[in-house]
Amino acid sequence: MKNNLALTLYGGVGSVTGANFLLESEADNFRLLVDCGLIQGVKNSIEENSKPFGYEPATIKVLLITHAHLDHVGRIPKLFKDGFSGVIYSTPATKEMAELILRDSVRILSEKAKEEGKEPMYSTEHVDAAMFAWQTVKYHTEKDIGGGFSIYMKDAGHILGSAMIEITHSGKKVVFTGDLGNSPSPLLRDTEEVNDADYMVMESVYGDRNHEDRDQRREKFKRIVQDSIKRGGALLIPAFSIERTQILLHEINDLVESGAIPEVPVFLDSPLAIKVTRIYKDRQAQFNKGVRDEIASGDDIFNFPNLTLTETREESKKINNVPNPKIIIAGSGMSSGGRIIYHEERYLPDPNSTVILPGYQAVGTRGRHLDEGLKIIDIKGRKIQVKARIEKITGFSGHKDSEHLVEFVADTKDTVKKVFVAMGETKASLFLVQRLRDYLEVDAIHPEVGKKYILE
Ligand SMILES: [Zn+2]
Repeated sequence: MKNNLALTLYGGVGSVTGANFLLESEADNFRLLVDCGLIQGVKNSIEENSKPFGYEPATIKVLLITHAHLDHVGRIPKLFKDGFSGVIYSTPATKEMAELILRDSVRILSEKAKEEGKEPMYSTEHVDAAMFAWQTVKYHTEKDIGGGFSIYMKDAGHILGSAMIEITHSGKKVVFTGDLGNSPSPLLRDTEEVNDADYMVMESVYGDRNHEDRDQRREKFKRIVQDSIKRGGALLIPAFSIERTQILLHEINDLVESGAIPEVPVFLDSPLAIKVTRIYKDRQAQFNKGVRDEIASGDDIFNFPNLTLTETREESKKINNVPNPKIIIAGSGMSSGGRIIYHEERYLPDPNSTVILPGYQAVGTRGRHLDEGLKIIDIKGRKIQVKARIEKITGFSGHKDSEHLVEFVADTKDTVKKVFVAMGETKASLFLVQRLRDYLEVDAIHPEVGKKYILE
């Protein structure tokens, strides 16, 4: 009992979002958290996210962050508001991007709170407190964090700075995968191998599905863009600010520069994505070799003729005056907010226009409604007819698919005592649990929310 660790998953079970895991050593009186994400795609989201945490934040010593996506960092300021006064650790790129994401989130959440007639969940001062307590650890650097725990971050290949966190205590290694990249990524290095985990808490967003392969996906994207330009409509791409946007820019860069598509106006209409793209440019050393070679040969991979970055609202509004065909990339990635909804309001009723859904759309989001083929969509209380073509491309996903998740666990099947399959919709998690049991004969479970598991 003395050296046992206990694991409790407080969020990110039965759901892709809201990751929040507690690992503790009672003997050492030391509790740490991994990720503190926002719950997304639910009704009354402010109410859901404002609920008290399942533990007392003041009792937590350390918060470890796998990567800067909102569903992994979005409740950090609330943690501070509720009494946490410990230290945060992440990679440097994660810290840099998380600050952008959290400051943006303050703005979005306060708008949402107003809509729902609620108090905002947190404010800028709580983000300031988080940034003050936030320390960085590079990949492949062992770090003692107290209480007999040490951490080691490996590249997850999911987004810039994303890490799998290996936590070692009294000879046991517990690995939190965070989100796992769809390697080989168009930009990033491959997910590193884990072959000596005792316990693993893993994601399963695509636990029950496989992606289109990369070449098919590239072909499909090219064909949709060509087709959309030919039909003279607008092409809307709702995209996440981190990673997805940079992959799209890189891909369009290749299409334009190889002459595969004519030079039509392309807009990156998201202040956040513009800022994140700058961080990507500053950290090119973290890209894979192919991309580094491209850059070394002189290509500015996120820039091409006719690309306009529209940072201000005024610049954004002017996009309306630019005649079709044109391409607009804007947030949010699931059309639940951001500037994309203005463009959707305008172009969804146009049969010549096209929307590309470049990845997973969470239950309840406007993107999911489009994906499900709804013919009428609600935007700001207005009923909007959907006559535009809706195209889905899954190969852009930043997540490993079912087959590759199994392959990933296979590397450590000889050492792992239990795999906790989380961070997915229940159906996807259960499917992966079964596959891991059948193919690898590992003890995989879909854990219960709030239940304490003893890691012996
Ligand atoms: Zn993620």
